[in-house]
Formats: sequence, C-alpha cells, structure tokens
Amino acid sequence: MNKVAFMTIDVESLYDSELLKDRMQYDIKYSYESYLKIYIDLLNKYNIKGTFFVLASSLSKIKDILKYAIDSGHEIALHGLDHTSPFEMTDEDFINHTLKAKELIENELNIKIKGYRAPCFGIDDNKLKILKDLGFMYDSSNLDFHLAKKSGNVKLDDFNKEYMCVASKDGFYEFSLSKVKAYSGHLPISGGGYIRLVPWFVIKYYIKKYFKTADSYVFYAHPFELSNGKLPKFKNLNWKEKLYLKIGRKSYIKKIEYLIKLLKKKGFEFKAMGNYGNN
Ligand SMILES: [Zn+2]
Repeated sequence: MNKVAFMTIDVESLYDSELLKDRMQYDIKYSYESYLKIYIDLLNKYNIKGTFFVLASSLSKIKDILKYAIDSGHEIALHGLDHTSPFEMTDEDFINHTLKAKELIENELNIKIKGYRAPCFGIDDNKLKILKDLGFMYDSSNLDFHLAKKSGNVKLDDFNKEYMCVASKDGFYEFSLSKVKAYSGHLPISGGGYIRLVPWFVIKYYIKKYFKTADSYVFYAHPFELSNGKLPKFKNLNWKEKLYLKIGRKSYIKKIEYLIKLLKKKGFEFKAMGNYGNN
C-alpha cells in the first residue's frame, strides 16, 4: 500500500478567521485570498495536485486565481457559503447554505465539486450523514483537538479505516487532519496555525516522529498565513490573538516546502482528495 499525502488549503479572507469575524471592519486591502497563488505555484513546482476548499464569498475576488488552479490540475472543493460554523445552523440551514454555495462555485467555475471542509472544523456524525445524502464524495473536517474549541467530534464508528487519515463508508470518505502524540495529549501537525506558531525545531521533531510510522498525511493552510503583507490595526484583540495572526507568516511557505521535500523523501504519493481511489 502506497503512503499518501493530501495538500489542502482553506480559501478564505483574513476576516473569516474566527478571531476577526464580526470584530473588525472589512477592508479588502487586508483580505489576502490572492496569496493562494503562492501555494499553487509551490505545488506546481513539485508537480503536486492539491485540494482547495473555497468559500463562496471569496469567489468573485479571486476568480482568475481559481481558474489558474483548475488549469494547473488542482481540485476545487467547498468550504461554505460564508464562514459560519455548521454548528451554528439548523440542519435545514446547513443544507440550504451548502447547496447554494456548491451551486454558485460550480456554475461560476464550470466544475463539479466532490468534497467539503466545515468552517471551524464544525462537523459531527449527523452533519457527515447530511453531506453524504447531498451527494458529496467526501468530507475533510475532522480535527478533534481540544484547543480548537469550536471543532467537532466525529466518531466514525461504522467507517472502515483505510489509512490513519482516511476512513470510508459506502463510498463516502472522511479525511481526518493529522495529529501526533505529544506531551500528555495530541499535537496537530496538519498545518494551519500549529505548524506556523509552534517553534520550528519542536514541530520538526514531531513531524519526523509522525512520519516514521505514518501511512498518510493531511496538510492545510490559509492564504493569509502565506502573506507577508501588513495586517489591519487590531483594536479589540488580546496579545495572544495578535500573536496568532502575526507570527511565522514570513517563513511559512519555506516550512511547507520543507514538508513537501520530506514527504517525497519518505515515499509519500501526493493526491487531490477527489482523486482518492483513482490511479
Ligand atoms: Zn476556514
């Protein structure tokens, strides 16, 4: 069985970040979705096909870049209509939001969407069933980390474990975000703020430890994390929140490149999630 890695990104504005949502006035200058292009170029350099979970609200701002992604062979999947967590919606609202966003993106980009990642990783077994019933082939929202307070808990009891990160049931797949045993609990090493914020020598140690026995890996990032640009003037944020937004952005793309090289060296095969199961 080949080892498999999935490079993903959640395509959203800086203002969709939970920290800023409804706390800062939107200014397109700091929205930063366009930094998706840096990620596309990096994946292209290594001939890797990635999966991009797109918010419908970002669509009009970066349509050209998304077309560039499609032309380069990457997969466009769904992150939602806006960044509202599914946990803040009734099932009916969740269905309506999801279908509307899917249709908007599909029509605008002339593609077919197969996969979904919930804003704030807000997923549970009931929402997974809804996604399957709506015709999605897969979800990739299972983070299950105690510090990500809004993230859900997926049991996947009746799923078949195909890889450490991949479980399936009746042709529907869950791609869980990677984590490793560290200290007395778990440390997500799947990207986002975790790889950016934790000191590099620490995270590198745990990534190498994970890769020793891992058969699969899921990485994710956000466009703003790849930007070197200025951040808006924060007023209502505490120092921890400010650090989360500021730290490690300059060096992040280099860290991702290091990860890609390491994955290649370890013999991982890169796939877009929607191509899982195909050769
Ligand atoms: Zn998101």
